[in-house]
Amino acid sequence: MDTLSPASRHLNMSRIRSRDTSPERTIRRALFKAGFRYRICDKRYPGKPDLIFPRYYAVIFINGCFWHAHEGCQYFRFPKSNQAFWQKKFSRNRERDAENLKYYQDQCWRVCFVWECAIRGKNSRRKIDEVTEQISRWLEEAGEPFLEIRG
Ligand SMILES: [Zn+2]
Repeated sequence: MDTLSPASRHLNMSRIRSRDTSPERTIRRALFKAGFRYRICDKRYPGKPDLIFPRYYAVIFINGCFWHAHEGCQYFRFPKSNQAFWQKKFSRNRERDAENLKYYQDQCWRVCFVWECAIRGKNSRRKIDEVTEQISRWLEEAGEPFLEIRG
């Protein structure tokens, strides 16, 4: 028997959909299609990179613009309530981003931060293609030690 009301079923469906189109999955899928193979969720790599490319000595972190308090980004607005809570949360996330960057750079690995805004909004399909292209070149041509891609 189906015990979910239509309203909560709708909510479930939209949660599932938003997980499927999360920036992490979108970029993983695009790079896979482009022929790259990578690791994810490998506990040997601190800081939980979203994609790990051992043969390129490179990791990619995909940052949600809200959670990582992306400065000057249209997708980041400081919440009006519970400001102390959010301030703490955002500083912790940003500190962690900086620590991750330093950790991998100290190991002579290259690091790429892809911000959600780089692939979000109008023409997102074209943006995804461009970001994929940029990452492919960066990986294969052993580009700069730190690459940041934002909208
Ligand atoms: Zn952003």
